[in-house]
Amino acid sequence: MMTGNSRAKVLLAVALALVATLAIGLAPAVSADRTRLQPGWDLFSPEQDIQIGKRLAAEVPKQMTLLNDPRVDNYLNEIGRTLVPHAPGFKYPYEYRCVNSAAINAFALPGGYIYINRGVIEAASTESELAGVMAHETAHVALRHGTSQASKAYIAEIPAALLSGWLGNNSGLGSAIVQMTTGFVMNSVFLKYSREDESQADVLGTQILYDSGYDPRALARFFEMIQAKSKSQPIEFFSDHPNPEHRVERVMEEVDKLGGPESGYKEDSRQFHEIQKYVDKLPPPPKKQTPQPQ
Ligand SMILES: [Zn+2]
Repeated sequence: MMTGNSRAKVLLAVALALVATLAIGLAPAVSADRTRLQPGWDLFSPEQDIQIGKRLAAEVPKQMTLLNDPRVDNYLNEIGRTLVPHAPGFKYPYEYRCVNSAAINAFALPGGYIYINRGVIEAASTESELAGVMAHETAHVALRHGTSQASKAYIAEIPAALLSGWLGNNSGLGSAIVQMTTGFVMNSVFLKYSREDESQADVLGTQILYDSGYDPRALARFFEMIQAKSKSQPIEFFSDHPNPEHRVERVMEEVDKLGGPESGYKEDSRQFHEIQKYVDKLPPPPKKQTPQPQ
């Protein structure tokens, strides 16, 4: 026979079991299956990502020509506002700008400064493909790949830093940031992602696309399209983002994990094609472009 106390315990256990069952039943199966990604080891704080990114962003116009067209930048930021709420982790002040270069490429600085070449807008066939490239770059920021790579480079430099007095004047990390954010170092440190980083940005970018209501297969389509183009012309994107075949496969694997595209997903917009036509009619990009960050 049960005492009042133990009956209460049994009732509680039954209630908890019921709640647990309901919770499992209600949890969307798709989110349980998606690949979980976290930022890697990093010496810097997320706030420092923003400081460093700001400093690097000031260097960008010295190294390449920005399009500086509000209509195009506003459009990119409009897509950005759809994507950003679905970027996990620290809430960076994401900002997207168009670079006046026909090369199919894009890059992201720490803290949310993202640059999309005019060539990406021209090459994409739908808004979701452009959004796919933007989501990939957004993922690099959310996963903090820039400062994570810089942290590894900094650790590797410590013996030299000690000799040159970097750390001797007590401003160690601060002066390291200054050194790392100038010219060549920016390209070779902050934009030197590993293949693993690229694969993570594809996977998280695909999740961001899916969560934003876009066709999550768009990044794979973009890769296939530029891979076909790369047979007749060198594609800059692949020198920074190698191994296209495997990447298409990995994106499609993640789409399966997400349970396929959601019904009513967004594929394209009239606005995208208007912007594409508008960009097409702008004066051609300057011929002599400083090489893009590698
Ligand atoms: Zn990338």
